[in-house]
Amino acid sequence: MDVAVLTIFPEMFDRFWTHGIVRRAIEQGHLNGSAVDIRAFAEDRHKVTDDRPYGGGCGMVMKPEPLAKALRAERERMPEAATLLMTPQGRPFSQQTAAELAGRQGLIFICGRYEGVDERIVQQFVDAEISIGDYVLTGGELPAMVVVDAVVRLIPGVLGGLDSAANDSFADGLLEHAHYTRPRDFEGREVPDVLLSGNHAAIAQWRLEAALVRTFLKRPDLLEKREFTAQEIAILKKWSQELENLIQVQSACRPDSLSGH
Ligand code: SAH
Repeated sequence: MDVAVLTIFPEMFDRFWTHGIVRRAIEQGHLNGSAVDIRAFAEDRHKVTDDRPYGGGCGMVMKPEPLAKALRAERERMPEAATLLMTPQGRPFSQQTAAELAGRQGLIFICGRYEGVDERIVQQFVDAEISIGDYVLTGGELPAMVVVDAVVRLIPGVLGGLDSAANDSFADGLLEHAHYTRPRDFEGREVPDVLLSGNHAAIAQWRLEAALVRTFLKRPDLLEKREFTAQEIAILKKWSQELENLIQVQSACRPDSLSGH
């Protein structure tokens, strides 16, 4: 995948390309990433990339001409690429959007600064507007890094373990189960026995149950939208039965305890 990030601060990306999975993706030829300096496309002597807003008011706006030149140059280099504007007004970024973008041949990111970019750039060049959350940052560079990072690990072949992305939180609508590594006993806290049993079916069952319970406790909204599998329904029924038993034991011991008074 070809990725070009248009920014007035290209040096912010120097370290981004050289660490961890992003670096490995580049080394293995899955990713070709570059930060493009918008300022290099400004034609005036002072290389100006922003100007005052029409209609007055405070703040500056990114001028359309240098951005348009940079975009045309990158589109010529990668004609298949989708152009994405980083903006708090965009579609909220999600694992699903990351998976969609991972199937593209190329991505061009526009990083805004100040009040954002001239609206005619949006009209003329932008295929999708993406927000990384309901808060306002000072620039689109961190959002572009967030999106590239999430997308790169979904490009087939980038992650070592074949299914390490398939089990991730959100990939199938559930949060991922807890993880443990050595030592077996850490300051009195032990790894669940089943994970040491070597029984793959029991481990898979434990992981599914652990994912369900986590999602129920931390993000019940994800379960509301879910179409449960038969195995998941069996787990939910088991919990429901266990809770029912617990309530029965309680009310047998203390008849008033559950009356709500
Ligand atoms: N005045 C704009 C915000 C500008 S913030 C507004 O109210 O909508 C400056 C730049 O930071 C934006 O152009 C955008 O590129 C980036 N940015 C800020 N918050 C962002 C977010 N939540 N998601 C994606 N990009 C964001």
